[in-house]
Amino acid sequence: MPKGAQRSPRILTHRSIAVRFCLFVCTLVFLMGMSAIAAVGSIGELHMRDSIRREIEGLGSGYGIAIGRVVQGGDLDAAQRMVNSMAAVPGMRDVRAEGVDGKFLARASGSTGAGPPAERFDLPLIAPGGVVVGRLKYEVSESPMPPPPFTAVWPILIGLIALMGLSVPLTIFFVRRITAPLRQLTDFAETVNANRLAIQVDIKTGDEFETLARAFNHMVARLDTSMRRVQRLAFVDAATELPNADRLQHDLRGAIAGAQRGGAPGALFLLQLDRLQRVGETLGAEAAHEVLTGATARLRTAVSAAGAEAGGAPMVARLSAEEFAILFATLPKTVDLRGIANAIAQPFDQSLEWREHKIALSAILGAAFFPRDGETPEEILRHARLALKAARETPLRMRFFSRSLDRAAAARLNLEKEMRAALDQNQFRAFFQPKIDLRSGRIVGAEALARWVRPDRSVISPAKFIPAAEEMGLICPVSESILRDACWKAAAWSREGLCARVAVNVSALQFADEDFPDKVLTILNQAGLPPQCLELEITESMAMEDVDRAIRMIEPLRAQGVRFAIDDFGTGHSSLASLTRLPFDVLKIDQTFIRGLSKDGHAPALVETILAMAAALNYDAVAEGVETDEEAEFLRRRGCPVAQGFLYSAALPPAEYHRILRQGSILAQRAGATPALDPVA
Ligand code: C2E
Ligand code: CA
Ligand code: CA
Repeated sequence: MPKGAQRSPRILTHRSIAVRFCLFVCTLVFLMGMSAIAAVGSIGELHMRDSIRREIEGLGSGYGIAIGRVVQGGDLDAAQRMVNSMAAVPGMRDVRAEGVDGKFLARASGSTGAGPPAERFDLPLIAPGGVVVGRLKYEVSESPMPPPPFTAVWPILIGLIALMGLSVPLTIFFVRRITAPLRQLTDFAETVNANRLAIQVDIKTGDEFETLARAFNHMVARLDTSMRRVQRLAFVDAATELPNADRLQHDLRGAIAGAQRGGAPGALFLLQLDRLQRVGETLGAEAAHEVLTGATARLRTAVSAAGAEAGGAPMVARLSAEEFAILFATLPKTVDLRGIANAIAQPFDQSLEWREHKIALSAILGAAFFPRDGETPEEILRHARLALKAARETPLRMRFFSRSLDRAAAARLNLEKEMRAALDQNQFRAFFQPKIDLRSGRIVGAEALARWVRPDRSVISPAKFIPAAEEMGLICPVSESILRDACWKAAAWSREGLCARVAVNVSALQFADEDFPDKVLTILNQAGLPPQCLELEITESMAMEDVDRAIRMIEPLRAQGVRFAIDDFGTGHSSLASLTRLPFDVLKIDQTFIRGLSKDGHAPALVETILAMAAALNYDAVAEGVETDEEAEFLRRRGCPVAQGFLYSAALPPAEYHRILRQGSILAQRAGATPALDPVA
């Protein structure tokens, strides 16, 4: 039996080969024995019949001579007595003595009754001198022919039973001997089945079993190679050769169990290397591979140094394109956790080099500790991820898990639930911030801004829910519902003959959807708003990310008359070349520049440059966030045509905006404008 095999109990069941073979041999022996008995019986019977026949014939011949003599002497009475005496012999019947002419000389019917005779005899009556003086005819009944004597069968029967008694253990013995390699092969198969593949079965019988064993060994060796390959693929990250997420999960489970049994506590660090993925997108696959290899080597070195300090050999695993995990299965209680975190992240303070490029990968680190922060690998990983996410917002870019993060995550989950319900109940509404012609002071349109209007009439600002909606994948439905709301309201105003131009913000995810142009056209159609009344605001970074694609998305809508504005202009990194290619109509100067007009010495020059650029590119300019008369005056003098901001009005509920739209001018309203969030009309 191969080493380590778990032997299953071997019993002689009614289906085992030994028992079946035994049954077969016994049946064979039994049948042979019975045939022998039958054969012996019939031969004995023949022998017996023959000897009885000869005896009866001898008896008849004796009587034939005796009766012949008395018939020749003419003593027919004596002949009759002799016939009587012969008929008295058991089994004799119908004994007749006839003369040569066929006449009865004497007759007796015999001792046995009716029934077919077994045999008829016809012998001559011979007188002294050999003269035949007549015939002696008689019949013999069946009864004197006895069945074969059992004495001859008994030895056969006994022999038969003995043979059967002997054949059972003998058969079992031989069958077991013959099938021993089969058992060996079965044990071997069971060992293989238990996933232990590094074994071979050794059978040298020189027969089919040996051939089968060789085939088995060959098969298992190949299986072993494939399994090793599969395991490698299943537990190793192909690009870095580091353990992968499944392997980490496995080891983390073991480490947590160890800590729970009273061992030293451990830690799981998650390291995010921002921009690692973008290297591939911008510099190609070769650069991505080399930078990843370089980053992995740095990380390995840093971790093994940190491990040596903490007295262990931490595991480094790669979980996704930019995420790595460092597992310290145990950590001394006195260890400096911040020191370890710094040691892991520090190597990425210096940029990596690839050809002439310097690639800065910024590291973000989150950590959770076990058993303190969780009982399962899933919980520890989730908590380390929460810490990693929170680390983005910290200046040091590292954070350890704390229960408050968990509470914040729960609150976020709750918010998501509420937002989904709010979407179903149409609680996301467009408010309208008027845009003012700086020369005439007349309203030339409005920017629709999202507000979450709760059933209790409280209003939540987009700064609170837009980032959350982006994270939860709800930004598209939220933005779409604002677009729809704004278009329906503007369409109603346009039917009254009011200036209904409305600008709506587009989120990056909406813009990434290939169906975006179709969706907008459908909404315009359904609302009945002329496309010329709609302006879509796209941030500078969205437009610049892929200029060709942006053009492809914008053109079909512009062809229908929809206008496009670059939002937050000046905050991104637009190249002039790209700007001239983009088919925009409006350039919105970001409010940070307007805010800076009175404080920042460079701001006026910057605003002037942007205005000059807008004029050169034939864009309309809109200044955002105008809060003071001075800002408005500066912009008016520099030729900025349109402005929006708290100086004129915050975003208003539709009914209120409708009211001032009917007045046509905001100036009368100015005194009442509040920069705070507005009550619902
Ligand atoms: P944004 O598109 O740059 O919108 C202008 C923001 O500046 C608005 O904030 C507006 O209320 C505020 N604002 C206007 N005038 C002044 C001013 O004089 N001073 C100051 N300090 N702020 C002023 P809001 O409404 O909180 O919106 C914030 C951002 O949320 C928007 O920035 C936009 O990026 C996003 N957003 C708003 N509504 C939507 C929407 O319907 N869809 C999408 N995708 N994003 C939206
Ligand atoms: Ca905007
Ligand atoms: Ca803006």
